[in-house]
Amino acid sequence: MLDSVTNRPELPPEIARRRTFAIISHPDAGKTTLTEKFLLYGGAIQMAGQVRAKGEARRTRSDFMQMEKDRGISVSASAMSFDFDGFRFNLVDTPGHSDFSEDTYRTLTAVDAAVMVIDGAKGVESQTQKLFEVCRLRDLPILTFCNKMDRESRDTFEIIDEIQEMLAIDVTPASWPIGVGRDFIGCYDLLRDRLELMDRADRNKVAESISIEGLDDPKLAEHVPAHLLEKFLEEVEMAKELLPTLDPQSVLEGHMTPIWFGSAINSFGVKELMDGIGRYGPEPQPQKASPRQVCPEEKKVVGFVFKVQANMDPKHRDRVAFVRMASGHFKRGMKLTHVRTKKPMAISNPVLFLASDRELAEEAWAGDIIGIPNHGQLRIGDTLTEGEALRATGIPSFAPELLQTVRAGDPMKAKHLEKALMQFAEEGAAKVFKPSFGSGFIVGVVGALQFEVLASRIEMEYGLPVRFEPSQFTSARWVSGEKPAVEKFINANKQHIATDHDGDTVYLTRLQWDIDRVERDYPDLKLTATKEMM
Ligand code: GDP
Repeated sequence: MLDSVTNRPELPPEIARRRTFAIISHPDAGKTTLTEKFLLYGGAIQMAGQVRAKGEARRTRSDFMQMEKDRGISVSASAMSFDFDGFRFNLVDTPGHSDFSEDTYRTLTAVDAAVMVIDGAKGVESQTQKLFEVCRLRDLPILTFCNKMDRESRDTFEIIDEIQEMLAIDVTPASWPIGVGRDFIGCYDLLRDRLELMDRADRNKVAESISIEGLDDPKLAEHVPAHLLEKFLEEVEMAKELLPTLDPQSVLEGHMTPIWFGSAINSFGVKELMDGIGRYGPEPQPQKASPRQVCPEEKKVVGFVFKVQANMDPKHRDRVAFVRMASGHFKRGMKLTHVRTKKPMAISNPVLFLASDRELAEEAWAGDIIGIPNHGQLRIGDTLTEGEALRATGIPSFAPELLQTVRAGDPMKAKHLEKALMQFAEEGAAKVFKPSFGSGFIVGVVGALQFEVLASRIEMEYGLPVRFEPSQFTSARWVSGEKPAVEKFINANKQHIATDHDGDTVYLTRLQWDIDRVERDYPDLKLTATKEMM
């Protein structure tokens, strides 16, 4: 195990060896392939190819639904744990389908770092940039993997410049590619002075690694053809002059990203990246909570729910709440306090997701992700503690950008529909508003594909055909303020008022002008586009 760089020297070793991270990328950059190789080196799967089913499944709705049917796969892939070189890696999946959803934001509240994968031919793409901005909000450390170097790729300096410019982060090369496209032979590991040569013949083979005594070692010329060597030495010379050197502290603070070059499909550069995550990626970090933050080394267990997945088995309406352990050493069977309801909960069958299998989690440490099967008691944003009234903060809920009304095909089934909708609201899959006027529900989502997915799930899981129709409203804002002011506002705007699944008041409208007017006419009220889940 490499010595790692620490900003939390007080952590017990079991916690200090944990690395909890997500991969952010634009579709097609190679996230699935890289995940597969991580699992392969982590010994979690025998053969590459097992995660593929899921990676390709997300592209169309029908495939997506197929994946949903096979919830086993999709759930175990939501969080994967594996060991590598003495580290315990917890990889949390960000939702795959390209409709950007707040699920992604919430997932990123459960990790301590992100690996950003970019395609060497395409550079920083739109989705990468959006996800990066979310990481930036939390100053998450980012490690970068520039993938597909076996293909024609852009000039190395150009790629680095683009990241620096578009994302406003310092970039330091951890490795340097030698040759481009067909001429690409491998990388020079600048952190450890090793030459890594790619084997194009065997995609699962780990690269040959040759120790080199610095860049003037004659051994380099034995392995690198003269025309490539010259260019490579010139570039590295220039890189040393122009680019910052690795500053581990700056990486931990999220101001600098080290970049590795490689080819996930050829298993090339992946081990170096994993070493990098171990060495420069952060240990479990403190969790923001109210009234105080929670440090991982605290003896008592605190965990918070960042994701809920329902109907894993359609016959039993069970759900799994994904919990990020924020502190302490959890043992199976522990009684924890469910802070929102103040009730004790015995956690007797928590699960750990070891890539292709789920396993009973006998124990878990701060940094780990466990799944807790439950019947709906656990919601996103809930906190579990050994008694203290703490509440995790910073888990956002966003105003939806698209609103539609929904009706059951059979009007007699309205109650069923309500139940189904509430479940999705609690799962965080949609916002559900009950207008104070008229009947029916208004459903809000962030991406249009989510309406289709919801309709299919309601039909599949509840046997209830439904119709989504355009709504007269296009925007939703949560209303807060002193009770008399809120009541006065509600009475004067009945046609626009609804409640969300928590019973909170929401103002619905189709005009930004309306929102501005309310803000002007009711200075005591606050209209917000986000609300913290509690
Ligand atoms: P995701 O959408 O980010 O999960 O991307 P995938 O892992 O599914 O990869 C997208 C496509 O790129 C697939 O066809 C992969 O086989 C291919 N791919 C992934 N890594 C590499 C690589 O290193 N080199 C090349 N040439 N293709 C790759």
